[in-house]
Amino acid sequence: MQINSNYLNLQDSYLFSTIAKKVNAFQAANPQASIIRLGIGDVTLPLCDAVVQALHDAVSEMGVKETFKGYGPEQGYGFLKDAIQHYYASHGVTLKSDEIFISDGAKSDLGNILDIFGTDNVVLIPDPVYPVYVDTNVMAGRKVVFMNANAENGFLPLPDEKVKADLIYICSPNNPTGAVYNREQLKAWVDYANAQDAVILFDAAYECFVKDPALPRSIFEIEGARTCAIEFCSFSKIAGFTGTRCGYTVIPMELSRQGVALHKLWLRRQTTKFNGVPYIVQRGAAAVFTPEGQKQIQENLGYYMENAKIIADAMREMGIWFTGGEHSPYIWLKCPNNMGSWEFFDLLLEKANVVGTPGAGFGVNGEGFFRLTAFGDRENTKEAVARMKKLLAEL
Ligand code: PLP
Repeated sequence: MQINSNYLNLQDSYLFSTIAKKVNAFQAANPQASIIRLGIGDVTLPLCDAVVQALHDAVSEMGVKETFKGYGPEQGYGFLKDAIQHYYASHGVTLKSDEIFISDGAKSDLGNILDIFGTDNVVLIPDPVYPVYVDTNVMAGRKVVFMNANAENGFLPLPDEKVKADLIYICSPNNPTGAVYNREQLKAWVDYANAQDAVILFDAAYECFVKDPALPRSIFEIEGARTCAIEFCSFSKIAGFTGTRCGYTVIPMELSRQGVALHKLWLRRQTTKFNGVPYIVQRGAAAVFTPEGQKQIQENLGYYMENAKIIADAMREMGIWFTGGEHSPYIWLKCPNNMGSWEFFDLLLEKANVVGTPGAGFGVNGEGFFRLTAFGDRENTKEAVARMKKLLAEL
């Protein structure tokens, strides 16, 4: 009997547990301190009314013999795939409904997609980045090559012809840096991937925060992407589904490698290992794309983006270098006075009672940077910013 010893190569993830430990210890020692948390990547506003109504209706359907649903199609119900197809069409992307696979979230698909790729592939991953990309590849024993994202390239690394890669991860708008690739930059990645016979795994979990129509929300807005890219997206941030769970993956029919359509492999993988997302949840997700749903979720997104603007404006006022905050709920800032990420974390916690996320937790290049999120409450966000201004003025 052998375990998958690749798991032993995983780095222990201390980031959020260390944060929790430090915050708890500080609160215990300072019970009167009112701590504001701007570190979380989870949403805080509830599901919108249109979604809640659709969920209720679907629950009622499940209690009636004529409308009860048992096992559903593993790839998702047609009504939701069609709604997503129309959503993409609204920003100029033509997809076939069957190119869309519904899942219980982008995280699962980002990990599971690796089932259809050989373990000898070289994987190119930006640093810093959402840790799931690295860990899922380490679990499978794949070789990971990092590309440097840093202040010099605006945390948007571009392809290096000298580096050979088979799988390339791109997350735009990015977690943790909030940086967004423009069309020319994504075109460079698409051309590189097509030339190298590589496949881009494009994480569009934060596409809903892109407000400038000149910026791409989907890799499929870029010419040539249909022969080299798979896109992952999620209802988590657009509609507050972090606890309700729904996402989707798009694999174009013409994307093939070694003469095999990747769509066919993923369909086989999903129909064998996955039994679909609950009908009730898919009905709730479909309501996101109705006119009322769109209006209501835009209000919620607007609330978060106003928080982001409050934080970003404060950074400008304080003369702090940052990325994000404009087309992203994340603000990624350079720690003042060249402080290290954890040093700034401790200072902010102890002197301003504000909690953020040290950039060093997202990769080597995150050292010296810090992530704040716009998912908090408006009053708390304003108060946190006021406390930071006061603290930095005293430094
Ligand atoms: N991709 C990125 C970049 C994320 O930051 C997250 C969650 O924070 C996810 C994917 C996960 O999305 P889901 O909730 O759909 O699994």
